[in-house]
Amino acid sequence: MIDDSKPDDRDPEQASYLHRPMEDSERIPFAPPRIDQKVIDEVVDTLRSGWITTGPKTKAFEKAISDYCGSQRTLCLSAWTTAAELFLRWWGIGSGDEVIIPSYTYCATANIVLHSGARPVMVDVGPDYLMDMESIEKAITERTKIIMPVDVGGRPCDYEKLFEVVMRSDVTDKFRASNERQALLGRILIMADAAHSFGASRDSKMVGTLADVTVFSFHAVKNLSTAEGGAITFRLPNAFHMESIYRELNTLSLHGQSKDALAKSQKGGWKYDVVVPGFKCNMTDIHASLGLVEIGRYPENLAKRRSIYERYSEAFQTDERLETPLSVEESLSPSWHLYLLKIKDADENQRDAVMARIDAAGVSVNVHFQPLPLLSAYKELGYRIDDHPRAYDLYSRTISLPIFFDMTDSQVDRVIQVVQEAVAIELG
Ligand SMILES: *Cc1c(COP(=O)(O)O)cnc(C)c1O
Repeated sequence: MIDDSKPDDRDPEQASYLHRPMEDSERIPFAPPRIDQKVIDEVVDTLRSGWITTGPKTKAFEKAISDYCGSQRTLCLSAWTTAAELFLRWWGIGSGDEVIIPSYTYCATANIVLHSGARPVMVDVGPDYLMDMESIEKAITERTKIIMPVDVGGRPCDYEKLFEVVMRSDVTDKFRASNERQALLGRILIMADAAHSFGASRDSKMVGTLADVTVFSFHAVKNLSTAEGGAITFRLPNAFHMESIYRELNTLSLHGQSKDALAKSQKGGWKYDVVVPGFKCNMTDIHASLGLVEIGRYPENLAKRRSIYERYSEAFQTDERLETPLSVEESLSPSWHLYLLKIKDADENQRDAVMARIDAAGVSVNVHFQPLPLLSAYKELGYRIDDHPRAYDLYSRTISLPIFFDMTDSQVDRVIQVVQEAVAIELG
């Protein structure tokens, strides 16, 4: 919460006045963004600079992301959704194609595929909430163009195993390229929905370099937020020319104009061409300002999230009615985005009752996710929850708890106490 009662005499060293001091009785939010004086100063700096849309700060943020992830190149756009959809269009995905996605995800993962005219093929998940490898293999057909796993909660999928599958000769033999780009790759493309997993790694390789293409979200509730925003990073085989891909996608994000606003603003730069009928989904420098501050202190953010996560697990692992998230193998470094707590033996109604009690006690609590076949739009398209028994089982017993940078120890303690009381009452 921002306190604007005293706009002019703020001490920039005392960033805490921006957060209303929380009374113990106050409601604990779920995942508020970290907005302090540093973020505000950076945004104000952009506003005063005379350049507010895509410009130097967006380009600096792109470079900071490439440096942080070790990816070939990064393009920042207006959201995960627009970035992922832009890429699908550029890759030539359309009617007759299939894209394999998990059923346990946010609707955006499926919607972008539907917009492109292709069919989302939904597969069930494993106990780690991640797309199940065996089900993926069974879902591959001659029409499969992309597999899009989701790093649910910030836990990176096993991309190495997935590459083994798509590179196997029986799988590449089935692959039918429908344009030059797809033929150059010669196999199914792996595109990570990394909306939750910025900063995570697997075998010391950062998310952003684990799949052919990775898409991040910087939406307000994500670990690193620019209010709204997204980015796409690449690790394509050397046969692809990264600079041309960057330029083509950048042009596509600005109506297919041969010059962006910054180039047009230069002396004599008014004349441009439109090379393709493109889209409009660029990131603005105002949004990039938030991202630049956040990425500079992101390790601190991850460390804080991890400590909250571990305090939750320590408290809940001794409670027989609860199942803490799977332990993290040494090779895996998640981004601690969601704390997914399972209530053992609960059905959907009991889970809902536990949530209502937690909510009534002033603690925000959530469900990630309702499997897509439970939602009307996908039911109408013929997807059935009966085909996704593990997704349904996880959904019916899981709650996600508050986890955010500014969370205090006493807030964590209160969440623990409230959850334990609610579960004790509802499940005896
Ligand atoms: C938030 C989210 C998205 C969409 O991100 P936007 O930036 O809001 O478009 C996509 N996939 C998953 C799994 C998400 O949680």
